[in-house]
Amino acid sequence: MKYIDSNSQNIKGHGGGCALGLKGQNKAGAQGNIGVETRADISASSSNSTISLSDRFGRNFPYLRLSITDICNFSCDYCLPDGYKKCNKISPLSLNEIRRLIDVFTKLGVNKVRLSGGEPTLRKDFIAIVKMIANNPAIKTLALTTNGYKLAQNAEKWRRAGITNINISIDSLNEQRFFAITGHNRLKEVLLGVEKAIKAGFNRVKINVVLLQNINDGEFTDFLALAKEKPVTIRFIELMQTGENLAYFKKFHISSREIKEQLIATNWIIKKRPFNAGPAQEFIHADYKGSIGIIAPYGKDFCKSCNRLRVSAKGDLHLCLFGKKGIALRHLLQDDEQKEQLSKLICSQLAFKCSSHFLAFGDSGITPHLASIGG
Ligand code: SAM
Ligand code: SF4
Repeated sequence: MKYIDSNSQNIKGHGGGCALGLKGQNKAGAQGNIGVETRADISASSSNSTISLSDRFGRNFPYLRLSITDICNFSCDYCLPDGYKKCNKISPLSLNEIRRLIDVFTKLGVNKVRLSGGEPTLRKDFIAIVKMIANNPAIKTLALTTNGYKLAQNAEKWRRAGITNINISIDSLNEQRFFAITGHNRLKEVLLGVEKAIKAGFNRVKINVVLLQNINDGEFTDFLALAKEKPVTIRFIELMQTGENLAYFKKFHISSREIKEQLIATNWIIKKRPFNAGPAQEFIHADYKGSIGIIAPYGKDFCKSCNRLRVSAKGDLHLCLFGKKGIALRHLLQDDEQKEQLSKLICSQLAFKCSSHFLAFGDSGITPHLASIGG
């Protein structure tokens, strides 16, 4: 189900690449041609205009997901079952490199950044990164996805530093099961972290739950009970196939269809969201403080409302979580003078963003696991 809002005017007739947010400027785009060079030139030279990242399928990309480390201390069965293994000596982007990256992306219209990983809070300069991004006046939302292992001690500190929204991964509310999935017996402290996050006053607190057949699919009512009492969004995410988890995926993937049917049968209603708000569906209910989200990447039309780009910890641009390649940006993050070049490179690559991923055909692109580029 899609809801078109007034933004949809912008979307129609937009040809792709980086374009000025003005109708009729981009004739090549309006005719469906790619014309990358022209648009990139326009964008890079128009520093005072409203510029937006958009593609040839009419999608805009105001949202950047940035992995700041691929290291993780957990070993979730579907992601890093044997824990993090260092396989290269490449260090993650430095504070200065991240600053230049964010400067350029915000000039191109990005106003929301999510820090992910790996476990982003493992970075020693995590607070410095948060403050630096939050201080960029173009940033309206600075979100974090975390496994929550340090949340209870740090929720307030992170909120004060500038994190506005937080997603915490909790795949089970049963201690033993949580331990079995993540390799860490830390459910109690992560749940305490959720309490602290609610108190710290984040704009939104979400709990990510990856749906796992015969593992946590019996916990639906427990998660619903949490949404009844707490102002949190429980987001059920369908397990996605990655390069390294095929056997696990085949065994444990379960569709979110039943959950959706159950919600609708029990008076939950789909929340109206702007067309470009991203691929999640959200459900609300008058008797619940919280809400329920569903992420169904195998569902029809999932990619039609894609609104995000990704940059990995080593500075590669990924047009899709399941794309065929990363585009190196790091060489253009070494000096403030390179910003125009970087802007052009990013814009030119948008022409290659595909209309959809190919997960349904068993093709998960080059992503070995989501910790590698930030889930
Ligand atoms: N370490 C942090 C965490 O777990 O929240 C951030 C990185 S993690 C890759 C981001 C999110 O992706 C988590 O909610 C995790 O459960 C989810 N995830 C990881 N691998 C996945 C997969 N194969 N399918 C679906 N979700 C996955
Ligand atoms: Fe680490 Fe997050 Fe992957 Fe779990 S899902 S192994 S916490 S990166």
